[in-house]
Amino acid sequence: MQGLPMERLTLLYSREEVAGRVKELAEAINRDYAGRELLIVGILKGTFVFLADLIRRLKVPVIVDFVGLSSYGLGSESSQQIVLTKDLQVSIEGKDVLVMEDILDTGLTVDFVLKFLRERRPASLKLCALIDKRERRIVPVAVDYVGFELDKGFVVGYGIDYAERYRHLPDIHRIELEDEQGREK
Ligand code: 5GP
Ligand code: MG
Repeated sequence: MQGLPMERLTLLYSREEVAGRVKELAEAINRDYAGRELLIVGILKGTFVFLADLIRRLKVPVIVDFVGLSSYGLGSESSQQIVLTKDLQVSIEGKDVLVMEDILDTGLTVDFVLKFLRERRPASLKLCALIDKRERRIVPVAVDYVGFELDKGFVVGYGIDYAERYRHLPDIHRIELEDEQGREK
């Protein structure tokens, strides 16, 4: 698929592949949480499409809430400062909480979220990521449900953006950036 002039998109996971993995993840979650109520915490904004698809396949009772974050680079990736910009509206104390993230990369974002949620004493706290980019991990994170494992590349579509664009694409694509001479960056 064609992106903007400097941005080349190539298909990575088709909508059918994504739907298949979402179905399998939902089945595992239905099994693991049978007889319990699940409180899902989506990390904005990248998870909204994934979350919407996944919850419609759940058979356990579900509550959904979101958190928003901002990260400020302080030079290198490992020294990123992450700040909470939107807190939960519900209490998670004593609840079975499942955090949903679009892409797990360095692990810094999810590590920050899991730490502050843990302080609020949920009964359990698990993590579901659509894409796990293990190679770039800086902080070790235990992930319970993974859609796809990817070693490298920057992806867009299915809720995931590049500079706020491409979230509406039904498939997941790799995006390559070219400079004005057409060279890959
Ligand atoms: P981490 O804190 O684990 O390094 O970063 C996770 C965040 O970085 C994700 O929530 C996502 O917003 C962003 N990110 C990491 N890899 C990609 C990617 O391939 N594409 C896009 N669009 N965002 C990414
Ligand atoms: Mg994100």
